[in-house]
Amino acid sequence: MGSVLEIRNLHVSVEDKPILRGVNLTIKQGEVHALMGPNGSGKSTLANVMLGHPAYQVTGGQVIFEGQDLLEMEADERSRAGLFLAFQYPVAIPGVTLANFLRQAINSRMKAADPNSKGISIPEFRRMLKSKMDFLQMDHSFAGRYLNDGFSGGEKKRAEILQMAVLQARIAILDETDSGLDIDALRIVAEGVNKLRGPEMGILVITHYQRILNYIKPEFVHVMFEGQIVESGGADLALHLEENGYDWVREKHA
Ligand code: ADP
Ligand code: MG
Repeated sequence: MGSVLEIRNLHVSVEDKPILRGVNLTIKQGEVHALMGPNGSGKSTLANVMLGHPAYQVTGGQVIFEGQDLLEMEADERSRAGLFLAFQYPVAIPGVTLANFLRQAINSRMKAADPNSKGISIPEFRRMLKSKMDFLQMDHSFAGRYLNDGFSGGEKKRAEILQMAVLQARIAILDETDSGLDIDALRIVAEGVNKLRGPEMGILVITHYQRILNYIKPEFVHVMFEGQIVESGGADLALHLEENGYDWVREKHA
């Protein structure tokens, strides 16, 4: 059986203000879902809760991942279990290359699984990194860049996609925060998602922009409005959103 992320009747408050009001969503390995919705509807709140952000209080419901209570797991346990959150490492780390960072992430995961593990050898790591970069059609020199230091929006996204590939995420959540994501960055994300999608990876792309659907064809589309998923469907729902925007969602569910 593949990995499953199951969000059940999740209620979340920020500073005692209810934001999520009963979210239900199940993502299985091998599925690509898009979570859409107008600004302020609670999409990033959902992503932040998955990350374990302390500002968000879960007031009800459950999140089950790999049969465990995700909300009880530390951030690194979530990552080791195969959950990938794209904005997990957003900070610049001058002096640490992307390659070093990725090797350390693999090593810490191997050591957590087996305290006697010596980690991945440098030649083995280099081979693996090269093959992933070739697959993603990335220039090898990119891995020698210092992590996030002076990265453009597009390069940050490229680094995230590479992390997703190297860490072999089972369920990946990509929150395309609604500001500052230019069309190039959007295209990089979409190409990466399209390359990595397959039976081993479940993906949730969170976005306000209908236009990302020109590049990623999700199998499942969900619309969040005022802290609830009010519509779910397939590619036809994506097309409907592209043509009609969100006004009909507001009218129907206000
Ligand atoms: P979306 O990602 O769909 O645009 P958000 O989850 O960012 O929506 O925000 C949903 C609501 O929660 C908004 O009203 C927002 O102001 C509020 N909110 C989210 N995060 C915080 C926070 N850290 N502090 C205060 N309010 C927040
Ligand atoms: Mg958001």
